Amino acid sequence: MYQISVEQHFDAAHFLRGYRGKCEALHGHRFRVVVRIESSGLDDIGLAYDFSELKQHLAEVISRFDHTCVNDVPPFDQINPSSENIAATIYEELKPKLTGVSIVGVEVWESPQTGVVYSPD
Ligand SMILES: [Zn+2]
Repeated sequence: MYQISVEQHFDAAHFLRGYRGKCEALHGHRFRVVVRIESSGLDDIGLAYDFSELKQHLAEVISRFDHTCVNDVPPFDQINPSSENIAATIYEELKPKLTGVSIVGVEVWESPQTGVVYSPD
């Protein structure tokens, strides 16, 4: 079994509705996103999955969040743009773009010290 990871980021503002604390005020992060996928086999040139293809799929998903207030971008106009919800949303949007591999987890890091990993049940 092979696990392949790529990392990208987007810069955005957000605030947490209903949260009592500093994060209820508008603030920004460089959201670091790490996607890890799993493949049991290799193709005929020895790759489990093409890194650049995976990066391209991830970029398609997260580009709409870059330089926005994430609270204005669906579905986060309806649900809170917590790192947990952002990670699950990226997972759901990335999943149909990937064939022949499964997503092990999507990590969203708000800072070097604080991050979330979403993995499917
Ligand atoms: Zn935040």
